[in-house]
Amino acid sequence: MRVVDLIRSKRDGRELTAEEISALVLGYARGDIPDYQMAAWLMAVVWRGMTRAELAALTAAMLESGQTLDLSALPAPKVDKHSTGGVGDKTSLVVAPVAAAAGLCVPMISGRGLGHTGGTLDKLESIPGFRTHLSLAEFRRVLEKCGTCLIGQTEEIAPADKKIYALRDVTGTVESPYLICASIMSKKLAEGIDALVLDVKTGSGAFMKRLEDSLFLAELLVETGRRMGKRIAALITDMDQPLGQQVGNALEVAEGIEVLRGGGPADLVALCAELSAWMLHLGGLEASVEDGKRRAADLIASGRALEKFREVVRLQGGDAAVLDDPRRLPQAKYTAQVGSPRDGFLAAMGCEQIGVASMLLGGGREKKEDAIDPAVGLTLHKKVGERVEKGEPLCTLHYNAPARLDAARRLAEQSFRIAAAPPAEVRPLVHRVLRDES
Ligand code: URA
Repeated sequence: MRVVDLIRSKRDGRELTAEEISALVLGYARGDIPDYQMAAWLMAVVWRGMTRAELAALTAAMLESGQTLDLSALPAPKVDKHSTGGVGDKTSLVVAPVAAAAGLCVPMISGRGLGHTGGTLDKLESIPGFRTHLSLAEFRRVLEKCGTCLIGQTEEIAPADKKIYALRDVTGTVESPYLICASIMSKKLAEGIDALVLDVKTGSGAFMKRLEDSLFLAELLVETGRRMGKRIAALITDMDQPLGQQVGNALEVAEGIEVLRGGGPADLVALCAELSAWMLHLGGLEASVEDGKRRAADLIASGRALEKFREVVRLQGGDAAVLDDPRRLPQAKYTAQVGSPRDGFLAAMGCEQIGVASMLLGGGREKKEDAIDPAVGLTLHKKVGERVEKGEPLCTLHYNAPARLDAARRLAEQSFRIAAAPPAEVRPLVHRVLRDES
């Protein structure tokens, strides 16, 4: 079969067979199919969508491109959490150590920044020395020692997602519920987990901006997990403004540490509690989500979650002293502020624009091979609904390259809508929860 024919078939809306999809995915993972052909096919999927049979075949092929971990020798329930991608979303840095401190095994395979959203791997790598590229043997060793390990896709686990993910990031092919579903589930199924909590974002900073589209994605994810015999819950959570106050890799690590120390912004603290509680509940450690929330709060208050994070940072080669002194994380040389143009209320934030502003400062990639600057990003000083006075800072930009400032500042300025009254409706943090039995 010729690759160009598979591209043309998808472009014209014909259903591909499982064999055709497998040949495409495995051929690309092996390096036999060039980026430009895969990118063209991905773009055709963005436009044409997929049938359920095609999605199942894509997920299976991506999973089979590598190995599936067998963690049955580890006695603890294996549970993970994954987000569909947001701005300022650093919950993994908190929930993995909380869940591991509670006694779960959390084998977390994460991604890098994707589109305007940040990635857990880029965040973790802002900790000096932290290694996210571990061999399977190392991954297993860290898991056995401390109950969690956070790595990226490798040549052994989900290699097809590793390549396709990086390609989608720079070819405008992220925003497809089918590609997102296959990407997430191929990684998660390779982890050998028993249960999975999905954080499906909705709003201006999410890939799925409308609630109905986020619901559709959540249904695809839950359906795939159920088909593969996993206990699964999808929480549709708000991404109409950044989560917490910090956007940018090192800035977000510092904020995650703050939460593990018992502080941090209310929205981030609440979402971390919710996600950890669902992990504990699905893992069978707590009878209800409410009990899970109490346990998660205790683990933070007692310092055990912070100590678990210290342990995993150390085991993955990172400088654990950043937990005591976040100034050891990369710091940008310069800062600039964006002030409110008038008195009023912060009525809305263009959340995607905030994510892009961080990328423009150097926090994201334009091309696959681009290096990112871990120190740059934005600190947001107001949440939607809060009162602001003329000139009062709305955000601080952290930057190293002065030539990058103007475009990022312009975008940040445009992203704040100041109105005479606060918004009539307060969006909930969690819009809906879908369960495998629903
Ligand atoms: N997270 C992933 O792992 N893949 C996507 O496509 C989006 C979010």
